[in-house]
Amino acid sequence: MQLIFMGPPGAGKGTQAQILAALWKIPHISTGDILRACVVAKTALGLQAKAYMDAGELVPDQLLMDIVQERMNQPDASAGWILDGFPRTVAQAAFFDKLLCDVGVEGSTSGKDCDLRAVNLDVPDNVLVTRLLSRGRQDDNEETIRRRLQVYREQTEPLIEFYSAREQLVAVDGDRDMGLVTAELQQALSGDS
Ligand code: ADP
Repeated sequence: MQLIFMGPPGAGKGTQAQILAALWKIPHISTGDILRACVVAKTALGLQAKAYMDAGELVPDQLLMDIVQERMNQPDASAGWILDGFPRTVAQAAFFDKLLCDVGVEGSTSGKDCDLRAVNLDVPDNVLVTRLLSRGRQDDNEETIRRRLQVYREQTEPLIEFYSAREQLVAVDGDRDMGLVTAELQQALSGDS
């Protein structure tokens, strides 16, 4: 099972990804979590990423590509994964395609026969802002939230079309009770896993 979780900040990707990864016994790989761990550990990468994250901007593609490539090469990633927060730009998606090809995932170029699916959890902006303000993470102040939403609409939303054109998109309404969203995802994804 190879899943990409997309959706705006606050859509609930992380929560759902965590639940389903535990259920299906595959790793939940969150680039946001990896970056925050680097910031806490004050690694060179963390120091570089922090300013972008605090401002609600995307961290440069190359840094994320290095992180994801390294993570995908870990032994626990061989049986599948839920990737949360990546790809977030068209350049990242193209890179990821190539990476999957290189590690031998059949058909990932055509996108037809491979196992990859991209889930989009959609939630209206006003609901997102309320959710994020109540979450209270360091980058959850109103100005940064607005910027993150704008960056999402400009840079990440085009990926919905990218995966839809390849018939890999699974669209789910995220503006509902958490348990209902989990149930729908389970039904939509586990049938042919
Ligand atoms: P959210 O769920 O609120 O969107 P994440 O935890 O996924 O937040 O990411 C937090 C921050 O980490 C982003 O605002 C961005 O600065 C950075 N980040 C995470 N993933 C990526 C990525 N794939 N490309 C660029 N920046 C990223």
